[in-house]
Amino acid sequence: MIQMKNVTKKYSNGVVAVNGISVHIKPGEFVYVVGPSGAGKSTFIKLMYREEKATTGSVIVNGIDLSTLKNRQVPQFRRNVGVVFQDFKLLPRLTAYENIAFALEVTEEEPTKIRKRVMEVLELVGLSHKARMFPHELSGGEQQRVSIARSIINTPQLVIADEPTGNLDPDTSWDIMHLFEKINAQGTTIVMATHNKEIVNTARRRVIAIEGGIIVRDEAGGEYGYER
Ligand code: ADP
Repeated sequence: MIQMKNVTKKYSNGVVAVNGISVHIKPGEFVYVVGPSGAGKSTFIKLMYREEKATTGSVIVNGIDLSTLKNRQVPQFRRNVGVVFQDFKLLPRLTAYENIAFALEVTEEEPTKIRKRVMEVLELVGLSHKARMFPHELSGGEQQRVSIARSIINTPQLVIADEPTGNLDPDTSWDIMHLFEKINAQGTTIVMATHNKEIVNTARRRVIAIEGGIIVRDEAGGEYGYER
C-alpha cells in the first residue's frame, strides 16, 4: 500500500523535517503516527498524498511512484486517497450533502446514482438527517463526520488523517475513532497522526513514533508512549 525508502524532506528554509525514513504499510492496516510537536509527523503523512514531495528517496502509494508523478497526474492519484484534517476543511457555502457530492469523481454518473452514493456515506457516518445543513449549523464532531464521509466518497483504499480529533472533546473523539475503526473494518487502510493517548492505548494498533524526522519506534499493538 505504502512503501517509503530512505525518504528525506528538506523544506526550502533548510529545515529537514523527515530525515531518512523507510517504512512499509500493508493493505488493511490501521497505523497511528505519534511523536512530539515538530517531530515531522505531518510532513511524513503529507508525503503519502503528495501534498509535499520527497527531497530524496522514494514514496510508492497504491503502486504509484510519487517522486516521478507529474503535477497534472496528482488530482487523479488523490481521488484514490481520502484525507481528513484537524480543521475539517469543509466549504462553508455548501451544505453537508454538497460538500460530499463535490468531491465525488463524476464521470457520466446519473444524478440518481450520485444521490444514492452520497446518501450512503452520509448514512455510514450517521448524518443522513443533516444532509441539508451548512457547516456552521453543525457541531465540530458533525463537521468531522462530513469530512470523513467526503474522504471515502470515491471508495479509496487508503485514508490519511492528520490529528482528526485535535479540535474535539473526548466523547466526540471516541465517536470519530469508532467511525475510523468501522471504515478500517471494511478493508480501508488508515494512517492517522494523533496526540490522543487514550485512544491509541485502547486501540492497540500499529504505532509508528517519529522524533526529529526519524522513526524511533514501530510496534504492532503498540502504545502511545508519551505523557500527552
Ligand atoms: P509535526 O506534525 O510532528 O508537528 P511537522 O511535520 O509539521 O511536525 O514539522 C516538522 C518540522 O518541519 C518542524 O520543524 C516544522 O517547523 C517544519 N516545517 C513544517 N512545515 C514546513 C514548511 N512548509 N516550511 C518549512 N518548515 C516546515
